[in-house]
Amino acid sequence: MRFKIGIKECAAAGILVATALLFLYVRDYIEDRESAVLTASENKVMSAINDELENMGKIALTFDDGPHPYYTEQILDGLKKRGIKATFFVTGMNVEKYPEIIKRMYEEGHVIGNHTFYHTQLTSRNRDKFKEELIRTNAAISEITGEDVIYVRPPYGSWDKSFETELNMFPVLWTVDPLDWCSTNVACITSNVVKKVEENDIILMHDYYPSTVTAALNIIDELTKEGYTFVTVEEILFD
Ligand SMILES: [Zn+2]
Repeated sequence: MRFKIGIKECAAAGILVATALLFLYVRDYIEDRESAVLTASENKVMSAINDELENMGKIALTFDDGPHPYYTEQILDGLKKRGIKATFFVTGMNVEKYPEIIKRMYEEGHVIGNHTFYHTQLTSRNRDKFKEELIRTNAAISEITGEDVIYVRPPYGSWDKSFETELNMFPVLWTVDPLDWCSTNVACITSNVVKKVEENDIILMHDYYPSTVTAALNIIDELTKEGYTFVTVEEILFD
């Protein structure tokens, strides 16, 4: 009899344990479902934020022909104040004249590219001289920064694709040219860019003119207000 009662007690206890386990299982299941739902909605919010960030257009400002002893420094001051990085395509002859400006560009996180030594246009007759200028300019920049130069902006856009493998360099042309070199009208240069610009544009300017300094900083301020962000060229080319 005592044995039979023991069985009953055991069965009752077993049922209790089973009920408790079932309760715990159901509770965990509900919690998991809730947290899964929460995670899904969190994910939705996160991906919306990411989309928003990606939709903010990126623009690269590029400056050719420098460094210039006054205007390049003024552009660097303006960029520093705004926390913006740009890309400078420099000539070897100016690198040798103003190495301290190259050092500053490098230390402040800007990208430095090659614009030949004497601002030479590639033609069918000067291939070797052109290549020699690229090598010489790379060496002048690397001596200051300690890093290889990857990007080249060929003057007037004349380029030979075989240099890319021969020198392990990548050409960077442009998509917006405000012709800053032929105008001193700051408002005109600024509006030429602000009106035309779209995301992933590469803007061609020259850190060789006082009007470019003011126009470039105005362009940054106006387009930042519109929601654009400014990046160096590799973020446009390889993202
Ligand atoms: Zn140039």
